[in-house]
Amino acid sequence: MDQQISALLSQAHSVALVSHIRPDGDAIGSLLGMGLALLHAGKKVQMVLQDGLPEKYNFLPGSELVQRRIESPFDTLIVVDCSDLERTGVILQGQNQPDLVIDHHKTNRDFGRINYVEPQAVATAAILAEKFPVWGLEVDEEVASCLLTGILGDTIGFRTTNMNPNALRIAADLMEKGADLATIYQKTLLSRSIAELRYWGQGLINIRYEDGLLWTTLTLDDRIKAAYPENDDADLINLLSSAADFFVVVLFIEQADGRVKVSWRSTEGIDVSQVAFEFGGGGHAAAAGADIVGSLDKVVELVLSKTKKLLGDRRVN
Ligand code: 5GP
Ligand code: MN
Repeated sequence: MDQQISALLSQAHSVALVSHIRPDGDAIGSLLGMGLALLHAGKKVQMVLQDGLPEKYNFLPGSELVQRRIESPFDTLIVVDCSDLERTGVILQGQNQPDLVIDHHKTNRDFGRINYVEPQAVATAAILAEKFPVWGLEVDEEVASCLLTGILGDTIGFRTTNMNPNALRIAADLMEKGADLATIYQKTLLSRSIAELRYWGQGLINIRYEDGLLWTTLTLDDRIKAAYPENDDADLINLLSSAADFFVVVLFIEQADGRVKVSWRSTEGIDVSQVAFEFGGGGHAAAAGADIVGSLDKVVELVLSKTKKLLGDRRVN
């Protein structure tokens, strides 16, 4: 497969590169890292995110190049950090099948012509960092900064249970190429706008807990009250996951289009990706999500009932 990918990349003249809606650190780091590596190799590149780039990533090299739709013809379509086509939004409607999909979700639906999917990788950006030299792309300082952002994002700063020595070695290599760990850590994981903190407050007020299942909701009204400009959870899920004594955390975020974004996190031994998959979403054993059509109340009821089934008769002592 490496040869096939090297050939595809070397023949490409003009690349459209896409990742998912409500982009997180890995989607952004992978998109910018690959986009810049291809640009530096002399290709024309369009880096496309339907929801654009959240402000806190504006310090990254290449951030000013991100566009919200495909604006001109291209010969090669690549999707990164996305397990199904729907998750790219509407930007690929009417386009041919992607030529290449690079991802690390175990629920990936193999929707590309070539699918490079490594579920044990901590981040799509970690796959790219390892594979760029094999595929003939250079990891320079700018590319390294973007890829380290992706790894930090999906491992929440090296602290998820899937962290392993190889992932730390990859991160160390990226630092040696010039990526500034402290700055990236500060800007993408630690620093919070006042709006984000207010938005967290709305979610924290509504916390519910029953037998190891912890959940809360964020409504459109909460978002307006907090003046929070994005349509995601502002990483509240990571804060909720710091709770002691839980099996599964679920966060429900009401969306403007009659949908609800649901995020699951679980403790070791409980695979929430299957529940997410049943609702049309996907993810990893310990972290999964879905975009579900329906009112907030209905989705909460349905999702909690399915999630309780997954927990069976586990009880917190
Ligand atoms: P989060 O809950 O932080 O949005 O995402 C947790 C994990 O589930 C991430 O790996 C993310 O890519 C995946 N995920 C979240 N939402 C969706 C979705 O709507 N569809 C799919 N296929 N995966 C999702
Ligand atoms: Mn990822």
